[in-house]
Amino acid sequence: MNLQNVLNSKYDKSIADCSNEEIYYGLLDMVKAMAKDKEKIDGKKKVYYISAEFLIGKLLSNNLINLGIYDQVKDELAKNGKDICAVEDVEPEPSLGNGGLGRLAACFLDSIATLGLNGDGIGINYHYGLFKQKFVDNLQTEEPNGWIEEQSWLTKTDKTYTVSFRGLNITSRMYDIDVTGYDSTTNKLHLFDIETVDESIVENGIDFDKTDIEKNLTLFLYPDDSDDAGRLLRVYQQYFMVSSGAQLILDECTAKGCDLYDLPDYAVIQINDTHPTMVIPELIRLLCERGIEMDDAIDIVSRTCAYTNHTILAEALEKWPIDYLKKAVPQLVPIIEILDDRVRRKYDNEKVAIIDRDDRVHMAHICIHHSFSVNGVASLHTDILKENELNNFYEIYPEKFNNKTNGITFRRWLLHCNPELAEFISSLIGDGYKKNADELQKLAEFVNDEKVLNELLRIKQNRKNELRDYLRKTQGLEINPESIYDIQIKRLHEYKRQQLNALYIIHKYLEIKAGKKPSTPITAIFGAKAAPAYIIAQDIIHLILCLQQVINNDPEVSPYLKVIMVENYNVTNAEHLIPACDISEQISLASKEASGTGNMKFMLNGAVTLGTEDGANVEIHELVGDDNIYIFGDSSETVVKRYAAGNYNASSYYENDEDIKAAVDFITGEKLMAVGSEEHLTRLQKELIGKDWFMTFPDFHDYLQKKEQAFKDYENRLEWAKKMLINISKVGYFSSDRTIAEYNKDIWHLECWEYMNSRKIFLS
Ligand SMILES: *Cc1c(COP(=O)(O)O)cnc(C)c1O
Repeated sequence: MNLQNVLNSKYDKSIADCSNEEIYYGLLDMVKAMAKDKEKIDGKKKVYYISAEFLIGKLLSNNLINLGIYDQVKDELAKNGKDICAVEDVEPEPSLGNGGLGRLAACFLDSIATLGLNGDGIGINYHYGLFKQKFVDNLQTEEPNGWIEEQSWLTKTDKTYTVSFRGLNITSRMYDIDVTGYDSTTNKLHLFDIETVDESIVENGIDFDKTDIEKNLTLFLYPDDSDDAGRLLRVYQQYFMVSSGAQLILDECTAKGCDLYDLPDYAVIQINDTHPTMVIPELIRLLCERGIEMDDAIDIVSRTCAYTNHTILAEALEKWPIDYLKKAVPQLVPIIEILDDRVRRKYDNEKVAIIDRDDRVHMAHICIHHSFSVNGVASLHTDILKENELNNFYEIYPEKFNNKTNGITFRRWLLHCNPELAEFISSLIGDGYKKNADELQKLAEFVNDEKVLNELLRIKQNRKNELRDYLRKTQGLEINPESIYDIQIKRLHEYKRQQLNALYIIHKYLEIKAGKKPSTPITAIFGAKAAPAYIIAQDIIHLILCLQQVINNDPEVSPYLKVIMVENYNVTNAEHLIPACDISEQISLASKEASGTGNMKFMLNGAVTLGTEDGANVEIHELVGDDNIYIFGDSSETVVKRYAAGNYNASSYYENDEDIKAAVDFITGEKLMAVGSEEHLTRLQKELIGKDWFMTFPDFHDYLQKKEQAFKDYENRLEWAKKMLINISKVGYFSSDRTIAEYNKDIWHLECWEYMNSRKIFLS
């Protein structure tokens, strides 16, 4: 197939005469047609990856790469005076996810298709996705992020289902997005939507009537849950997704001739965090409706579902008041009561009950009792689940627990976002690493090759220059490409500790004011969205924006230190930021970050990690060794013990440590108050002194010291390049192809082994 032919029949125009929009729509048609030709022959068993989020990012380039025609299209466009990057700019980014969990789901779909596995995604077609972040007066504001255009990656199908809520039947319709594997087959992402959704009910940013389910159900991801109506809407959304999904799964299986008693031989449902939990009682309900006894239905479903846990933050584990379920989905309540009753009869332990004494339904508990596999997402995380958070369950079901360390797709996070680096790697070790990431280890032999190291530095500098151009063009921000790019980009959450980085920046600012100037200038770059109702997170964004204004406008300081807060952090911005990074900030409080995947993307692009022994940082540390990572802070054991003892006293750190006091006092000092809001800044300061729940003060000095060491080491360019090279050479383990191969080997047991073996996917 050829682009010119497509454009001829679509617009009757030559490539040269088409606008970038027309070329984009032409490529859309072309990619869809090519993807269709690669659709899979159905195997018997299929994995359904069900998730409230799929943070897929723009799809054009990724699809062109996976279909093997990126260079060809790029050249053809160039010959006609067109720039593929300008065409890529036309595509809106779907914002169907919030952060790491949604991005993981997207990477997994890519790897499932790439490994030739029979598996589709199931989710919701949010019209406005999360929100678009805008900064106004140093504060975050939220706007709808529309992404669905007349022509898009969505294909409307004729599959519809009825989803019943109390007093309301809704018709759900399935839309599909092709998931192209890298030099492989095409799978699907199924997104369910309603016909009656009404975008016009949104006003004043992202406000809307949360009770008008027929109009609002598929408008936003995670609608504000600070009030009852918002929380109830989440229940509606979750049930809408799982009921549509469950009906699809049963349809597909019966179409293949599955006797419903044999469901586990035809389907495995991977539940991504607890948002899709209701798929369990819903499937039980549907099986009973089709004539299966309750006990059998429970058994069948429990052998079909597998659950991935993503967090140990207690406040993030979903517990729905049973009254919500009674209001929205009364048909599930008797089933959930039966599940609870069975658990209570069997185990005399309140902590493993499904419905607690306050009549709240613990979604994770349903998942653990009624899945055959429970996995954490990094080795430390799984250990903490087993030993602490889920220990009561581990004692009952030791055989269910397993670890699947997260991964990322190298197609998007290297081949697409850093083609120059990818090509350089190919010139050294060949192309094999693109299908078998373990081959990156061959780079180790170049660790003393100055030519190679210099080339690595040159490529990094190119990316840094490009980021300068990109930020200037898209955000009107000026940065110095000769400075160290120190980057922390991730959702805003206290446990991720952007506030610790901010305290460091204040400390550095005060040092420079006092005459102690860094020998290499530093650019501290942030990107983060905060949940609209998360007050302290909003305050931290405010602090960073105020610091940006004060520091960047201080002529004494800004030649040495700049603060940049990138607006609307999303996948597209990440694709520009990550390849340009020197130092990757992964500074969550040890034990709190389940895995992280940003850390892996940075490592792949030759950044060096500054981090705590948390999540997958632990595994990065093991792989690269002490000399190629900067580790600081209290261990997870220390932190867990300190929480258990309940004796952490932030104010005594504040009072007894001059540096901490000076930095914290600065938050409400004259300079920041002049540009910021007293309400936000004093609230944040009070929170830090009075609580500091995520323990930034105990780690402050170690952070300072390791960060200074990293800045110092950076100046020996060749030694730094060695660290970069070693990081890249060890990153193969974090390919999501490895992760998915492990899911399949240990949990899903799908066919296609021959295919996978032919790709030499290594399993540890
Ligand atoms: C990878 C990614 C994340 C997750 O980052 P963490 O540092 O692991 O929290 C969040 N948002 C976007 C846009 C990403 O690409």
